Amino acid sequence: MTNWRELPPGVVITDPGSSRNFKTGSWRSFKPVWIRENCVHCMLCWVYCPDTSVLTADNGRGEFDYDFCKGCGICALECPGKKGNKAIVMEEEGAR
Ligand code: SF4
Ligand code: SF4
Repeated sequence: MTNWRELPPGVVITDPGSSRNFKTGSWRSFKPVWIRENCVHCMLCWVYCPDTSVLTADNGRGEFDYDFCKGCGICALECPGKKGNKAIVMEEEGAR
C-alpha cells in the first residue's frame, strides 16, 4: 500500500499571492444574481462567500465578482432578503 510520502505533490504554489491571476469563474454552472430591490444590505452574503466574490460599493453591497465566483450558492442560501423575498437567486449559467 502506498503511503503519503510516496505520492507526487499535487499543487505547489511558488508565487505567493498569485490566486488573483487564476480566474475561477469558468468553473461555475450556476450563477448568483442580485435582486437589488429585495436587498437590505445586511452583508451576510459578503461574510459567507468563501471566494471573496461579493464586492462592496459606497459602504454597501456591490455586484458579484463573476471572475472568481464559483457558483456554490452559499450567498443565496444565507441571504435573508426583504420580507422573505430573497435578494440573491441562483440561475443556470447562460440563462440570461
Ligand atoms: S445577504 Fe442578501 S439582503 Fe444581505 S446584503 Fe447580501 S444580497 Fe443583500
Ligand atoms: S455563489 Fe458562492 S462563490 Fe459565488 S458569490 Fe455566492 S457564495 Fe460567493
